[in-house]
Amino acid sequence: MRKTPVCIALLLCAASALAAQKPHAVAHMKTLDGSNAGTVEFAQTNHGVLVTFDLHGLPPGAHAIHIHTSGNCDTRAKFTSAGPHFSPEPKNHGFMTKGGPHPGDLPNQFAAADGSLHASTLTNMFALGNGKKSIFDRDGAALIVHAKADDYTSQPAGNSGDRIACGVIVRTVGPKARKAAKQTAHR
Ligand code: ZN
Repeated sequence: MRKTPVCIALLLCAASALAAQKPHAVAHMKTLDGSNAGTVEFAQTNHGVLVTFDLHGLPPGAHAIHIHTSGNCDTRAKFTSAGPHFSPEPKNHGFMTKGGPHPGDLPNQFAAADGSLHASTLTNMFALGNGKKSIFDRDGAALIVHAKADDYTSQPAGNSGDRIACGVIVRTVGPKARKAAKQTAHR
């Protein structure tokens, strides 16, 4: 019987540690033929969201990377089902555009000669909780890798070409998800 208070104390400690954890999310990426293309992790920090790329199977060179507004990576639709760039308020595309950028715009990333891409970037333009800047609205969000570099200027997507890899961003730590939207027919 003397063990009981210890167990309760441990449980309370575990619960408070869990509550202190900041939101975290992951996107399991796939290419247009449905192959696994690695993962992208999202970690909320006090200074923004740290985005870490661990990808493979990409064409070597520069690629535009954006958060798109819907969590839908349908290969038959060539990932167009992910919608436009995440931007809750009307904004222009690109870091070098007046009235820009979209909060879902991220800097170009560069695949190595073997098609791997290991990098990280920090952004404070969106967040992983359920607040105003959250990417987790009712239909979620997706991370898209484009065929070409983002010129940071052209509308609506930086002349970055086809969508070649896509991953639905799934929260692994954080507040309870908002109620999901009804499944749409094209899904
Ligand atoms: Zn954009």
